Amino acid sequence: MNYLKFILLLGLTACELSRAREADTGQQAGPSSNPVHPALFTHHDRYREGRITHRRFKHRDLVPLLDSLGKDARFRVSPAGTSAEGRSIHLVSAGGGPVKVMLWSQMHGDESTATMAMLDMFNFLRTSDELDPVRRAILEKLTVHFVPMLNPDGAERFQRRNALEIDLNRDAVKLQSPESRILKRLRDSLQPQFGFNLHDQNHRYTAGNTAKPATISFLAPPYDHAKSVNAVRGNAMKLIVGMNRALQAYIPGQVGKYSDSHEPRAFGDNIQKWGTSVVLVESGGHPGDTEKQFIRKLNFVALLDALHAIAGASYERENQEDYYAIPENEKYLFDLVVRNVLVKEGNVQHLTDIGINRYEINAPGATDFYYRSQIDEVGDMSIYYGYEEFDARGMLYQCGKIRKDPFRNITALRKEDPMALLREGYSGVRVKRPVTPFQLRDIPVNVVKNARQCPTAPALNLIPEFFLTGGDGTIRYAVINGFIIPLDGQTTNFKNALVLN
Ligand SMILES: [Zn+2]
Repeated sequence: MNYLKFILLLGLTACELSRAREADTGQQAGPSSNPVHPALFTHHDRYREGRITHRRFKHRDLVPLLDSLGKDARFRVSPAGTSAEGRSIHLVSAGGGPVKVMLWSQMHGDESTATMAMLDMFNFLRTSDELDPVRRAILEKLTVHFVPMLNPDGAERFQRRNALEIDLNRDAVKLQSPESRILKRLRDSLQPQFGFNLHDQNHRYTAGNTAKPATISFLAPPYDHAKSVNAVRGNAMKLIVGMNRALQAYIPGQVGKYSDSHEPRAFGDNIQKWGTSVVLVESGGHPGDTEKQFIRKLNFVALLDALHAIAGASYERENQEDYYAIPENEKYLFDLVVRNVLVKEGNVQHLTDIGINRYEINAPGATDFYYRSQIDEVGDMSIYYGYEEFDARGMLYQCGKIRKDPFRNITALRKEDPMALLREGYSGVRVKRPVTPFQLRDIPVNVVKNARQCPTAPALNLIPEFFLTGGDGTIRYAVINGFIIPLDGQTTNFKNALVLN
């Protein structure tokens, strides 16, 4: 989608934008008068692991990179155990300092952003350039242990849970999964002073009650229901204060605080209790960053900035109370909000907003996906925001018809002009031979197997498939699978149509 439009939507001023851009030359307030994050942000491209370019990479993509890392004398790569399906889980260690830090990523298989950032961190640590003082401080003061991709079986399916259908982050006490036992054993044997628990969160979370996505959220997980703060948790809070300040330079107002209700079964909460200062990092959404490559960079910057703060003990000078000023995660974003649609049913009419979300459905093999959208809210949506917003004031809702004559196969459908079908009010067609949604990536018309009633009004859980007509009755916009398609030839971000029963 149009990035500029989104910036305007967020209400960022030109001044705020230029401040973000100039962050690499400016000095930040706080305990460090000479922060390292601007140089890390500027030079990230040097260290980016070019062989990983999207979120659905697999264990088989990761292993060769770790094997080659093992040949570098600066790293120690050792087997940490195997997953339920026998995939290897690795411990990567660097540095020889007295302070031990452990970072683990992707205990949820479909949360891969920080694994990508770790690979970039390895490349950073093995390079020599003007940032040598930063990597030297980290490697001399710290011993850093990384566990990239703790749940390789989940990554294989690009799903949250492991192959046993267990959520590893609810298995810290029962330890029924081999992956959970690996993490527990590493924590207990290494006894790290600091831990980073690296996840991804829903991209529709907002930083407080605003239109701004929580692109990164932090939490110093509580170790009891009273949310008590001891020195262990306090140090995690101080680290977060510094990481938040670093990120504000690049994503002003887009950092949130994850829910701090105590979860007795979660690893973060328990590891905090066991005496390691744990920082939870949740990578959320950012406009136009579906594959999370910009958020990967933000992880790289924030995590190395934190390691540097631990190495120099500068985090100790942070004001712990500033942690509470980070806005809490809320959920005020939809993928698309269509506002002020006029709906007529018989002689009755009403105005409504329509909130639409697009869900990713894995392809077989889970290296690719298609979108399946759904109406998740109707009515007055004035308190909500959209990654995309569309004002339909003056336009009338019209449901889509299904074309009676079936097409022989997908090739025959391809020969038809889909825009002509849409202009005639057809949102669906029938095709005699089987079709997959992947064949409908450039065809904005659903393939429908059975005849069905056309919904006279938008309603919850419906697939968004309708038209918006102007005052003269002509169709001006189609909404197919939650994507707006202007019928006057303007560009659209349409991704795929659906095959429906
Ligand atoms: Zn997670």
